[in-house]
Amino acid sequence: MIRFTNTLSGQVERFSPIDPGVVKLYTCGPTVYDFPHIGNWRAYVFEDLLKRFLLFSGYKVTHVMNLTDVDDKTIRGANAKGVGLEEYTRPFIEAFDLERDVLNILPADHYPRATGHIREMVEIIKVLLEKGFAYRRDGSIYFAIDKFPAYGRLSKINLEDLRPGSRGDADEYEKDSVHDFALWKAPKEGEPAWETEIGPGRPGWHIECSAMSSKYLGRTFDIHCGGVDNIFPHHENEIAQSEAANGVKFVNYWLHCHHLVVDGEKMAKSKGNFYTLGDILAKGYNPLDVRYLLISTHYRKMLNFTFDALEQAKAARSRLGNFLGALKDVTKEGPAHAEIPELIATARNGFIQSLEDDLNISEALGSIFDFVTNVNALIAQDALSKEDAQKIFEFYSSLDKVLAIKPSPVRSAVGKIIAHGRVSGRATVTKDPPADADSILEKEVLEKIEARNKARLEKNYALADAIRKDLLSRGILLEDTKDGVLWKKAELPIY
Ligand SMILES: [Zn+2]
Repeated sequence: MIRFTNTLSGQVERFSPIDPGVVKLYTCGPTVYDFPHIGNWRAYVFEDLLKRFLLFSGYKVTHVMNLTDVDDKTIRGANAKGVGLEEYTRPFIEAFDLERDVLNILPADHYPRATGHIREMVEIIKVLLEKGFAYRRDGSIYFAIDKFPAYGRLSKINLEDLRPGSRGDADEYEKDSVHDFALWKAPKEGEPAWETEIGPGRPGWHIECSAMSSKYLGRTFDIHCGGVDNIFPHHENEIAQSEAANGVKFVNYWLHCHHLVVDGEKMAKSKGNFYTLGDILAKGYNPLDVRYLLISTHYRKMLNFTFDALEQAKAARSRLGNFLGALKDVTKEGPAHAEIPELIATARNGFIQSLEDDLNISEALGSIFDFVTNVNALIAQDALSKEDAQKIFEFYSSLDKVLAIKPSPVRSAVGKIIAHGRVSGRATVTKDPPADADSILEKEVLEKIEARNKARLEKNYALADAIRKDLLSRGILLEDTKDGVLWKKAELPIY
């Protein structure tokens, strides 16, 4: 029996999807105006843990994640660079895909883009105008929140001080300025605009998710996720738009994950504690150490990112790696050990029951590490047979379908992500310089790659090859791709 804390009721509720056996899941995706930071990844990794656990529990999952490629932020960014929206957002979408893959996040079934769904948004706005939930003012169209009595139920907002008819055009605003929000924004100098049945203009941010979720999942679906900062105004407004237009409940379960802070403080570029995934990988960490760290704090708790915590995550993963390696080394033939089936059953039950309890990851990991301790003791006594070891290995692998912290074959993308970080100019943010020589190494590697590129241009293939071999002798693998040279540290497989 799976239970989740539903933000809507504030209660832990038993999970039961609309269609038995199938879960319809919508997760708010990135606004592609910049590289995602690790706080964004915390939310996406949590959603992946949720999805993987639902799959592990036997559900089919239809997952939709939108890409917000037109809103206040993307327009501002594109204008500052003097390029169109498509050109401006493309590299951020590519970076998102790449980073998602190295973090072992399962791709969604659909990644609808806002700019590809203007017609669907216009349809909803038309209905809202017809039903009297929306009104026109100065070429824009607003949602009248006093026409929707359930407004504020999700965010538990106090509407007493609301000034009737107060309006705002910004996509994001604070709780203390709750007001009628823009569904459709009048054309403005320097902004893209679409010619539509409701007039020219462009959509507000909130209507995008209402339109794309109902197109791919239906008017009512099971789970909607996001970070706590999405609760107000974004998700509150999504509920208002969808339920007012459709006359049916929008979402049954709302799951929100808490903030990520760095060294106990809110992440901010001005404080030098702002990290993209590329910034962290440039220090030599494995992306799955980052994944481990991001999933290992319960989603409803604040996650404090520190490099000490990342070192602990790395140590925990290497403990698992050593354990699996030791299992592979068991070669003794012989009868099965009598305790193994029970040890496996205890660990499996502990793991499943913990995750069924609102994704209690700490206890789930606790069950695994207790199991590792017990099995390690048997290995030390030379009490396991090869057959036992194989059984244990398969059991662990079945749990890793949920955790996904084993090494992944897409590791070669890491060098490219580090390069993305550098493009953003943030790979140089090193609040805690790494204790080892990783950053020096990275600089040296890049210099050598450059020297090799130069040698190849000059057709000095002997020198190019010598540089490649020199790097290889120091554990650096090069990979020539159509996008340039990728490099990675050759890691010993952990098992
Ligand atoms: Zn959204």
